[in-house]
Amino acid sequence: MTQTHPHSLSRRAMLLATTMAAASLGWASNSTWAKAPRINTQGPYFYRFAFGGAEATVVSDGPVVLPATTFVGVPHEEVQRMLARSFLPTDNVVFEQNILVLNTGDKLVMFDTGLGSMKLFGPGSGRMLNSLKQAGIDPKDIDAVVLSHAHPDHVWGVMADDGSPNFPNAQIYISQADYEFWTDEAKLSNKDLKALIEGARRHLLPNRSRIIFFKDGQEFLPGVQAMATPGHTVGHAMFMLSSGDKTLAVLGDTTHHPVLLFENPRMEFIYDTDPKQSVQSRVRVLEMLAAKRIPFLGYHFPWPGIGFASKHGDGFRYHPQPMQMLL
Ligand SMILES: [Zn+2]
Repeated sequence: MTQTHPHSLSRRAMLLATTMAAASLGWASNSTWAKAPRINTQGPYFYRFAFGGAEATVVSDGPVVLPATTFVGVPHEEVQRMLARSFLPTDNVVFEQNILVLNTGDKLVMFDTGLGSMKLFGPGSGRMLNSLKQAGIDPKDIDAVVLSHAHPDHVWGVMADDGSPNFPNAQIYISQADYEFWTDEAKLSNKDLKALIEGARRHLLPNRSRIIFFKDGQEFLPGVQAMATPGHTVGHAMFMLSSGDKTLAVLGDTTHHPVLLFENPRMEFIYDTDPKQSVQSRVRVLEMLAAKRIPFLGYHFPWPGIGFASKHGDGFRYHPQPMQMLL
C-alpha cells in the first residue's frame, strides 16, 4: 500500500478550505473582532526524563540577563564576534537557571535553588517554587538540597522572604570552604562582596544545624559524588550522578556559556573568585566529559541544559541533546 492515508488527505483539504474561507472573510483586517490584550508573562517550566532507575526533573527558576562584558580575558570585540557567529545578541547574555530534582526512589534531591524573589538580573527569575508546583513536586518532600556554591542564583531560593525555609524537611549539602567564605562576617566590610555575603548569611546561617559538608570525591548521597572544581568560588563543586549504567554530570557553574566558554574555555568570567583557577577546573572537566562522552547538565545553559561536550581545536563544542533522555 503506497496510497496517501485518507485521513491526512482530508485533513489537508479541510485546512486549505478553512484558510481560503478565512482569507475571503478578511479576518486579519476585520476590526469587529476583539483584540486580545497582551499577557506578558511566561509560564513555569519543567522537563522530565528517565535517568537509570531514577526519575529526573529539571525545573526552571527562569532566566537572568547579564551584560556581555561579564566575559573577560580577551578583547571585547572577540566576545562580540563569537556571539554574533552563533546568532546570539552581542550586548547581553541570557543565562537559564536549570535546577535538577532527582528522585532516586528513596530520596528526592534538588541541586541548587535559584535566585529567590530578588530580581538582581532582570525580571525573569524567581520561578522555582511555581515550576516545582507545575512539575507536581511538593517542596516539603525534598529530602536534600545540594548546593554547588553560595552565589545568589544558587542559594537565594533556600529561604522564603518571611525567613521560613522553602524546604523544611531537607538536609542541606555544601562544601565547607564555600560555606565559610560566603558567610564570613569579616567580609561584610568589602563593598564588592557585601550584598553577596549578606545574602549567603541570610540563607545559610539559620540552617546551620541541618547543613552537611561534603568532601571532594565523597559519595555523600547514594549515587551522588562531589567533585571539587574551585575557581568560580573557593569551594565550588560539581556532582557526578549515577543510576544503573547511566552517568550524568551536574556542572553547576563550572562553565557558564555553551559558546564563549566552550570555544574558548580559557576566557574568564568576571564573577570568578579566582579566574585562573576557574579556567583550570573548567578545562579539566570538559576534557574529561569529552573523553568519556558523559552527558551533563549546565546550570546556566539553554533550556533544559542537557548535552555533551566534544573537543574542537583548542576548545570544545557543545551538543545539546535532551531527546535521547525522554521518558
Ligand atoms: Zn550561577
